[in-house]
Amino acid sequence: MSRSAHPAGPRHADVLPEGHYTAPPADLNALDPKVWAQTVTRTDTGEVSVGGIDVTTLAEEFGTPAYFVDETDFRARARAWRTAFGHDADVFYAGKAFLSRAIVRWLHEEGLNLDVCSGGELSTALSAGMPADRIAFHGNNKSTGEIQRAIEAGVGRIVLDSFQEIVRVAHIAQSLGKRQRVQIRVTVGVEAHTHEFIATAHEDQKFGIPLAGGQAAEAVRRALQLEGLELIGIHSHIGSQIFDTSGFEVAAHRVVGLLKDIRDEHGVELPEIDLGGGLGIAYTSDDDPREPHEIAKALTEIVQRECESAKLRMPRISVEPGRAIVGPTAFTLYEVGTIKPLDGLRTYVSVDGGMSDNIRTALYDAEYSVALVSRTSDAQPMLVRVVGKHCESGDIVVKDAFLPSDLAPGDLIAVPATGAYCRSMASNYNHALRPPVVAVREGEARVIVRRETEEDLLRLDVG
Ligand SMILES: *Cc1c(COP(=O)(O)O)cnc(C)c1O
Repeated sequence: MSRSAHPAGPRHADVLPEGHYTAPPADLNALDPKVWAQTVTRTDTGEVSVGGIDVTTLAEEFGTPAYFVDETDFRARARAWRTAFGHDADVFYAGKAFLSRAIVRWLHEEGLNLDVCSGGELSTALSAGMPADRIAFHGNNKSTGEIQRAIEAGVGRIVLDSFQEIVRVAHIAQSLGKRQRVQIRVTVGVEAHTHEFIATAHEDQKFGIPLAGGQAAEAVRRALQLEGLELIGIHSHIGSQIFDTSGFEVAAHRVVGLLKDIRDEHGVELPEIDLGGGLGIAYTSDDDPREPHEIAKALTEIVQRECESAKLRMPRISVEPGRAIVGPTAFTLYEVGTIKPLDGLRTYVSVDGGMSDNIRTALYDAEYSVALVSRTSDAQPMLVRVVGKHCESGDIVVKDAFLPSDLAPGDLIAVPATGAYCRSMASNYNHALRPPVVAVREGEARVIVRRETEEDLLRLDVG
């Protein structure tokens, strides 16, 4: 990149180093609605507010770092997915993206179902009143205890992930005198256009049963024979942070192909197909996610077309968005601490959190944006790397971004689109206290997950 691309020029570098950035945005004070939650706005005082409350007030009341969820936005996104898919389809929110009892209640009220993948997620869902028949239970290594609990609770479906699990679930259901509704998760051999570790439908990974080599057909054969199981459909999840529907198209084609084979071999038409989640969101202004109604239309048409050509009845479709619902609804608020300019490179801005509240940058090279939110600034942009306070040089929150060059310790900065896979993957590394999640709506803020305390840490330490 040449200097002429950004006439303002960064303060500490004559030549910009390698990185995933383009020119600094024309206006560093602007908030791109693509990456910020719906009610986030800059007020007349120059501060940013969410749900009508400015960030300085939020920081004083709840401390930093903290996650702030825009409840209005969450409900709107959940409703948009629900409405887009209508009555002939089900939307299961993927609880692993972020789950708390308040979230479960919001989902319940907005008519969504819920995916869980552990005993902990199941108990959170049940304790917040999600009806068991609207819960799907996932996972590649469910324990017998978890399976037993899920069946006893009466979950709507268990998604079978291996040959061993087919037998295990059938056995447990039968011993409880029940017949459990199940789907079989297959891998269709699609490589979603995403990071290797979050693409899940190619064959060389741990999830699902491959369609290849007739393995999925054999799994169906076995499941249909077992009395403890009611096989209701086939499940496919091809990955995460996906922007185009071509991967889903191939997946739907292959899953419907399996449904057709099942009909031909067994004379049964399975009534359901689940296409998983994985729809992308905007982490930076460069990302262009599609709207739920466009996705719903595309996926429904694809399945319809495939079923028509296979002469199958249209199955009930379900989808499992996690990130696409909760991701854009929250931001993480940090206080700026040490600022360290490295001449010729960039300026390192340390914040009071880091990889303990957002591991995604270290884990997947995820990209994020960042903004100064406690005030506006007319200073020139400087190239920064926002880092945490942990003992790892990989403790990076935002790898490459621009912030105003008059940034100072005590300023508040916020990283948008941290609703998914941030609090849910948070750790106590360096005995960090995991930040609270605060829901903000129409001028009111309330803690939905409180900040951890040192007493919480010491309570577990019984040595
Ligand atoms: C992770 C996961 C999802 C949700 O993925 P997102 O990228 O958050 O939409 C849905 N279904 C299954 C089976 C998953 O493992």
